[in-house]
Amino acid sequence: MRNRGLVVVGAGLAGVAACESARREGFSGPITLIGAESHVPYDRPPLSKELLVGEASPAVPLLRERGRFTELDIDVMTDAPAVGLDTRARVVGTGKGDVPYQHLVIACGARSRELPGTSGISGIHTLRTHSDVEAVWKRLQSPVRVVVIGAGFIGAEVASAARNYGHPVTIVEAAPAPLTRSLGAEGGALVTELHAANGTELVLGVGVESMITDSTGTTVAGVKLTDGRVVDGDLVVVGIGAAPSTEWLSDTDIGLDARDGGIECDATLAVLSSAGLPVDGVWAAGDVAHWPNALFDKRMRLEHWASASEQGAAAARNAVSGNSPMPFTTVPYFWSDWYGTRIQFVGTSQADELLVQQRRDKTGGTVVLYRSGGRVAGVLTIGRPDLIMKYRRFVTAPDSWVSGVNYGADQCR
Ligand SMILES: Cc1cc2nc3c(=O)[nH]c(=O)nc-3n(C[C@H](O)[C@H](O)[C@H](O)COP(=O)(O)OP(=O)(O)OC[C@H]3O[C@@H](n4cnc5c(N)ncnc54)[C@H](O)[C@@H]3O)c2cc1C
Repeated sequence: MRNRGLVVVGAGLAGVAACESARREGFSGPITLIGAESHVPYDRPPLSKELLVGEASPAVPLLRERGRFTELDIDVMTDAPAVGLDTRARVVGTGKGDVPYQHLVIACGARSRELPGTSGISGIHTLRTHSDVEAVWKRLQSPVRVVVIGAGFIGAEVASAARNYGHPVTIVEAAPAPLTRSLGAEGGALVTELHAANGTELVLGVGVESMITDSTGTTVAGVKLTDGRVVDGDLVVVGIGAAPSTEWLSDTDIGLDARDGGIECDATLAVLSSAGLPVDGVWAAGDVAHWPNALFDKRMRLEHWASASEQGAAAARNAVSGNSPMPFTTVPYFWSDWYGTRIQFVGTSQADELLVQQRRDKTGGTVVLYRSGGRVAGVLTIGRPDLIMKYRRFVTAPDSWVSGVNYGADQCR
């Protein structure tokens, strides 16, 4: 068996950030990064953006050059899914044998949710991994009618890529408005105008009844909706969200959220047991982790690039530094690119009021301020990548509404 040290489960963004942070903290013990996939860690945002519209078959967008792991003396295990955890003996079981730990960071992310009854039908895809993107890219190279199920960010990016090839695209969304959870109904409506402007058909408030197959019964030919309509399509991309990859923890004492199976953590990202007590030496980070974000007085599980990276670093720092663990707080931030327009959001979308700020002639993008009480709770920008980070300070400050509104008015002059 290997020497005990820092073990990180999940060779994605949060996992890499954890390993690098431990070395920055001066941790000199062994570090093992356990990954389920066959690739060394790679980045996900390019998968649904530039790689889908690239001329060549998508390369793997590595997060770090391979040499970086050797330089930091990090043992990267690929094709080695963690399959079990013994928190008393401090051992992670993997497909390639047991790995003992002194400190453990769980950063195993999430996987795409699938539509029931669709497995085994060719032409139906999800989009989270590099092999997903290879498959979708290949289909986009010849004429194809595209149906996207789910009008979330990834579905919208796939639609945008498909329109870039000139393919007809229909997005089907069960909710009456898209993106209500991330942007609120009004904010969601503003960004979804981009679909109509770029020739993507958006069907709202209707669910999927079943998939229609061709005469062989094995290949998708369309989607039957719950209102009886049929949308023809030979490429169906399902973008209905992600579920934390925690099946391997189901027989352990790790506390898992009852609704989505994410890992319950305290404010310092220490993992809690099912009885709500910290599990010795175990931390979590990234898409898999629920934690109380004191800046917003709210438990959160974010699926954003920036927070995954920050949490990975914070969890490992707390794990190895030997100092009292520090609470982790962040102002949520994400971006998405649709039809050449960058959409960005900081803060939270739970608000009493939204204020849209635009230049009078509507050129130069849109800023939407979300008010909660006397404070700017969140800011959405559409086509104003120069502004978003400048707004972050308003989201963290109390009584920031009036100054935020004045600042925005200046920027839209
Ligand atoms: C297509 C796509 C586009 C995105 N675009 C944006 C964007 O534009 N802006 C933005 O803010 N965010 C974006 N995101 C979200 C962002 O990429 C994620 O929040 C981030 O990747 C989360 O990092 P993570 O390390 O927590 O999880 P992951 O990236 O999911 O990495 C976890 C890793 O753990 C591995 N793993 C799972 N189970 C096990 C196991 N049992 N044992 C070992 N390893 C395991 C997985 O295979 C995976 O490699 C996008 C996500 C996707 C999928």
